[in-house]
Amino acid sequence: MHIRLLKHTPEPDRLVALAARRCYSSLPAERIDEKIGEKEVDRLLEMLRLRNHLSPFEHVSFTFSLDGVSRALSHQLVRHRIASYSQESQRYVEYNKLEQLPYVVPPSIQANPEATGLFQSATEHALKAYRGLLALGIPPEDARYVFPNAVETKLIFTLNARSLFNFFEQRCCQKAQWEIRHLAFKMLDVCREVAPRVFHTAGAPCGYERPYCREGDPACPRFPKSAAPPGQGSGRVAGEG
Ligand SMILES: Cc1cc2nc3c(=O)[nH]c(=O)nc-3n(C[C@H](O)[C@H](O)[C@H](O)COP(=O)(O)OP(=O)(O)OC[C@H]3O[C@@H](n4cnc5c(N)ncnc54)[C@H](O)[C@@H]3O)c2cc1C
Repeated sequence: MHIRLLKHTPEPDRLVALAARRCYSSLPAERIDEKIGEKEVDRLLEMLRLRNHLSPFEHVSFTFSLDGVSRALSHQLVRHRIASYSQESQRYVEYNKLEQLPYVVPPSIQANPEATGLFQSATEHALKAYRGLLALGIPPEDARYVFPNAVETKLIFTLNARSLFNFFEQRCCQKAQWEIRHLAFKMLDVCREVAPRVFHTAGAPCGYERPYCREGDPACPRFPKSAAPPGQGSGRVAGEG
């Protein structure tokens, strides 16, 4: 998996603070901007989180390039609707010249030699069938139906910070599927590098100051001792809004 932050809104922490202050001031934006010091940025962002006033976080966007993930992952990713996606097309990109189908092998399969053998033969068989179908004049958009979920894909996608809070809340959870969880932690790392204050509390809600478990699973090793469900005094500070 290779994830890269291609672009982001400049000065994201500061822009969210400015948008927050806009709500409570009659001054022109330029004057507000002049008056906001570093401490004020911290105070405003914290206030937004505590009040669940999350719309100012929508002004800052993050565009990622993602390669080497499975279609099983991308299917989960694109369920996040408050986002924009461009994905490598299996209609226009042909795989018939490849030696081997590019695919992702789950760690549970990698750890088991017999399972690895079965997995490899299934992917080899899929590529052989794909080539056979193309040779019969079947178009790539139909031949691709033989591909497994493991087949690799590439995307460019954009989310705003509020939508990213929701994504991190769901996908940084210990119970999220391993590949998308791995992606979520990598994305959170790069987001924190460029917008540390915006993403200060982002992640699974069991990691917050006043945590709860969104899965309600006491069997999870990270299940918070004092967990209360959302809306019942959990002190939830960021998330689905
Ligand atoms: C652990 C887990 C298991 C899952 N299992 C399944 C499964 O078995 N089957 C399955 O189909 N999906 C499953 N999903 C996907 C899940 O149902 C969501 O589609 C996905 O996680 C995207 O979340 P979202 O809707 O909050 O995000 P987004 O689509 O980005 O939406 C963000 C927020 O906007 C609001 N919103 C967006 N669209 C609407 C709307 N039409 N109406 C009202 N409010 C809206 C909601 O508040 C939503 O939380 C699973 C997700 C997780 C995390």
